[in-house]
Amino acid sequence: MHFLQAELNIGMLGHVDHGKTTLTKALTNKWTALHSEELKRGISIRLGYADFSIYYCKDCSEYSVSEKCPKCGKKAEFKRRISIVDSPGHETLMTTAISASSIIDGCIFLIAANEPCPQPQTAEHLMILNATGTKNVIVVQTKVDLVSKARALEHRAEIENALKGSVAEGAPIIPIIATHSVNVDALLEAIQEKIPTPKRDTTAPPRLYVSRSFDVNKPGTDIPKIKGGVFGGSLTQGVLKLGDEVELRPGIQKKDKSPYEPIKFKITALRSETDALEQAAPGGLIALGSPLDPSITKSDTLVGSVVGLPGKLPEVSDTINVKYSLLDRKDIDNVPLKQNEPIVVNVQTATAIGVIANLAKGIATIKLKRPLCVDKGSKVALSRKIGQRWRLSGWGSIN
Ligand code: GDP
Ligand code: MG
Repeated sequence: MHFLQAELNIGMLGHVDHGKTTLTKALTNKWTALHSEELKRGISIRLGYADFSIYYCKDCSEYSVSEKCPKCGKKAEFKRRISIVDSPGHETLMTTAISASSIIDGCIFLIAANEPCPQPQTAEHLMILNATGTKNVIVVQTKVDLVSKARALEHRAEIENALKGSVAEGAPIIPIIATHSVNVDALLEAIQEKIPTPKRDTTAPPRLYVSRSFDVNKPGTDIPKIKGGVFGGSLTQGVLKLGDEVELRPGIQKKDKSPYEPIKFKITALRSETDALEQAAPGGLIALGSPLDPSITKSDTLVGSVVGLPGKLPEVSDTINVKYSLLDRKDIDNVPLKQNEPIVVNVQTATAIGVIANLAKGIATIKLKRPLCVDKGSKVALSRKIGQRWRLSGWGSIN
């Protein structure tokens, strides 16, 4: 039996070097840090993704990622197909991790055993989980091969302590050696138990949040052979079919300073990571082919856009109202927001810079440099500049 599309997205979160990409490889057999720039810098700059399936052998009570039970070799029962979203862990790229949260249904939070917990980013990632309200968290204690058993247990207590009072309090903590796939079966069992596939509304108007956009052509491809622009993302509701006429918002500017115009196109290809699809449903990550000039979609330029049926998407606006609360941060001086303060907004898969135009009754009116297409009620993360860096300082929702 063949399963075409993953039914949910699970995000990898954790401090840089704590083993996100290695664990993704252990699960999916793929190395998500494929972009040359990422390889050069040694960090996953953009969201990388890869699919895998969970199987269960009843005879051996064993979970695995292979069709054949690794213990008895017999055919195992298929459970679920899942897309992994490998988020970056580098602090300056925090906003990309926040963006991923709009399309993930659960999270694997990696904490390496060979460093005291919490590391600064571990604490900051916990704040992201709280801010975005990400539930269904599984903590993976990685690199347990690098410490003694006594230290691993001590470190586990440090993790439990760090999780106290957060959305991840009481989450399962699974010790793992990702480089040798040790204890991955316990992780798979925890995924089955703790990260259910959410109920989706397939009858609602489709919403695809764009998390990647590409030009898939090799440099120098002959013009007749050039493939149109490709989008990667996830549907949060509704279905999209091959041949559907769709609209992408906010769209593009035809000229500098002219208003953004929605882009209309016909879906010419629909794919999961492994298969061509006739139709796509909410859940795992999918790619959408278009007849658009690939120069429009290249290098993730349209990340943060929304695809849906023409006339069925929210209004595009460069002003948003955010009902927000400030984070209580011990590590930075998170004073109340100020009028005219520059602010970075993460909403859906979009990252946008703006300025606070007004503050009243817990609502910040933010004037954005570029317009966004967002649904009312969407979760918003706000980051402000402290020193040289953008730091997560508040969260809320579109009012
Ligand atoms: P990321 O930045 O979180 O994606 O971390 P990577 O997956 O790139 O891993 C960082 C380094 O840790 C690499 O050299 C991995 O080989 C190593 N590593 C990852 N998991 C383990 C583990 O369980 N044990 C040991 N000893 N090394 C690991
Ligand atoms: Mg990585």
